[in-house]
Amino acid sequence: MDDKKPELSAASRDNLRRKTFKKNPIIGTKFTIAISSAKGGVGKSTFATNLAIALKKEGSKVGLLDADIYGPSIPKMFGIDAKPKSDGQKLEPIIKYDIQCMSIGFLTDQQTPMIWRGPMVTSAIKTFTQKVGWKDLDFIIVDMPPGTGDTQLTFSQEIKIDGAIIVSTPQEVALLDVKRGIKMFDKLGVKILGLVDNMSFFKGDDGKKYKIFGEGGVKKTAEEFKKEFLGEIPIDPTVGKCGDEGKPIVEYDPENEISKIYLDLAKKIKSTYL
Ligand code: ADP
Repeated sequence: MDDKKPELSAASRDNLRRKTFKKNPIIGTKFTIAISSAKGGVGKSTFATNLAIALKKEGSKVGLLDADIYGPSIPKMFGIDAKPKSDGQKLEPIIKYDIQCMSIGFLTDQQTPMIWRGPMVTSAIKTFTQKVGWKDLDFIIVDMPPGTGDTQLTFSQEIKIDGAIIVSTPQEVALLDVKRGIKMFDKLGVKILGLVDNMSFFKGDDGKKYKIFGEGGVKKTAEEFKKEFLGEIPIDPTVGKCGDEGKPIVEYDPENEISKIYLDLAKKIKSTYL
């Protein structure tokens, strides 16, 4: 008698893997949107902060979770220099621009590197998702670290993510990593809302668009993987200045062309979920 167990197909194995993990929602939150980039420096944190503010301006209650344990940006980009309070059970988020915020940067000295192994990162992520007093949020925007490491895995396997947005610049080298990021989310059963092409061009005083980092690559990648292309965000030095000064452009100047792109995107996200 042949007592060999039947081989599972790749699809069944993936299904099984997904079911094995119990995914918890972030406490106090209706919908979790992860902002991801496969590479650093493409504008992921800038995007996360501005999208959070745009959703707030569209009338939603919003939280912002900085899940980048090794390189937190939210304290700087939101201009927060305060320590969260704790009642011994839960950490209270810090509220700025009407947004509930949490970052490892609130708890550590900004200039001290986090020299942590994977399990400590995983434990910090669990604390931030289950032991922070997030209150009545429609959306929590999660600023993920770049790449496909421990934080992404913890989120994808144990926390309910309702949608992920992948931010990239159009260079080939960034796109290679984007493809890896798409495959990771697909494999772990995380819905990708779409891809954003950040710093896609610079508009000169002559009105011409200068495609500094290349052209059309993010859109092409979206098409290749049958994901939605959510649009282009141009380079504007004001965006960088606003980030450095702790007041994201959508808060600083909602009439700016770039702010309007974020506000349109926020409307779209709201209508998808609420
Ligand atoms: P990441 O989170 O991917 O590492 P950041 O959000 O920190 O990237 O952005 C990297 C740098 O690019 C920052 O100095 C930021 O101000 C700047 N930046 C991001 N998007 C834009 C944009 N559309 N125009 C101009 N500068 C931008």
